[in-house]
Amino acid sequence: MPPATNTDTTDRNQQLFDRAKRVIPGGVNSPVRAFKAVGGTPRFVQRAQGAYFWDANGKRHIDYIGSWGPMILGHGHPAVLEAVQKAALDGFSFGAPTEREVELAEAILERVPSMDMVRLVSSGTEAGMSAIRLARGATGRSKILKFEGCYHGHADALLVKAGSGLATFGNPTSAGVPPEVVQHTLVLEYNNILQLEEAFSLHGKELACLMIEPIAGNMNFVRASVPFMKRCRELCTQYGALFVFDEVMTGLRVAFGSAQSVYARSIPGFEPDMTVLGKVIGGGMPLAAFGGKRAVMEQLAPLGPVYQAGTLSGNPVATACGLATLKEIGKPGFYEDLGRKTQLLISGLQAEADKAGVDFCGDSEGGMFGFFLFKELPQNYAKVMTTDNARFNTLFHGLLDRGVYIAPALYEAGFMSAAHTDVDIAETVAAASEVFKLLSK
Ligand code: PLP
Repeated sequence: MPPATNTDTTDRNQQLFDRAKRVIPGGVNSPVRAFKAVGGTPRFVQRAQGAYFWDANGKRHIDYIGSWGPMILGHGHPAVLEAVQKAALDGFSFGAPTEREVELAEAILERVPSMDMVRLVSSGTEAGMSAIRLARGATGRSKILKFEGCYHGHADALLVKAGSGLATFGNPTSAGVPPEVVQHTLVLEYNNILQLEEAFSLHGKELACLMIEPIAGNMNFVRASVPFMKRCRELCTQYGALFVFDEVMTGLRVAFGSAQSVYARSIPGFEPDMTVLGKVIGGGMPLAAFGGKRAVMEQLAPLGPVYQAGTLSGNPVATACGLATLKEIGKPGFYEDLGRKTQLLISGLQAEADKAGVDFCGDSEGGMFGFFLFKELPQNYAKVMTTDNARFNTLFHGLLDRGVYIAPALYEAGFMSAAHTDVDIAETVAAASEVFKLLSK
């Protein structure tokens, strides 16, 4: 664990953090960056290349966050860099349509064919919020259903925790969200089929949509079980609620066709009604999207009555970055190699934890992974949150000290990139081996 106060006067990370705290709330522009959960000083990134970034002290870290998912090719991929530089020379933003937006929309639909049409926006939050408005507009219903531990961005209606029973709707999890705003949001336990069935029998006819992270990366890494996913699909169809897949994190990261293609392997013909994307489709630039069946998407302005807009939507530099990224990840063998490396990491960590006698388990799909200091993989948020914080923090800081950067919170997933090599993975496993020894004492 780090000292309670960092008094090292040569620490540039600390100097920058102190300076930042004077002008930016908490010193960061997104809360998890502040290291609040794990303690210590956030690393200010000076530059990044491939699988690494260098912090303000010039120290190199193997990066398993990759901007929380987008950097699937690693940092500074030459083809992406070239596309971005070229696009920037032609102009930063026009507020008028461009050919590149059409190309990117076509490329996304080719990879996620459950969607007939897609609208480009600038963040996952915006995409999720707009998908819900569209689902409500298209169905003429108000209520929405989500699951505890799934994060869908910070739109007011989604900052909500479960109420006291299935007959009651949610309570806000953030100040500034009036209770009336979340009174239409029902929150259920992930992977709980009985509760799901009960909720649909009570509220199914009033539900505009059910929104889910198919592999939840905001409670570390928890898969929706196949029977649970199948039941979600059946109940949405039966009650006329739209089934919305939030693939902001999993989209084009866990497989070429995203998480929905993974479930379609076990559930023939499986498709959601709508999909929300972000992160990888922008390759590190502010770009996200939501899409679905034509009849639903045609309800959007300017065709239909559901309003949605954005000054920077489909930004020309962001779309260039996204397109160049999609081109690279569409090359043959890309996901096979990415998945192989992710598995190599997880099996390496498992072997070292076993040797040290530390409870450990991990899971991965494509280039996304998670691990827990448990014997068995958890199935829901309540179980994830029983993780021993102190032990996780020892693991986090032990790895950080050894130049391995994982998420500074136990409820976040990890990300592999094409730039990580087997040598990086071996270095990571060797670092973890030392830390597991500390945890076994
Ligand atoms: N949905 C999921 C599954 C996410 O993981 C995130 C962000 O991590 C979002 C939505 C929100 O995306 P953004 O941070 O781009 O607003």
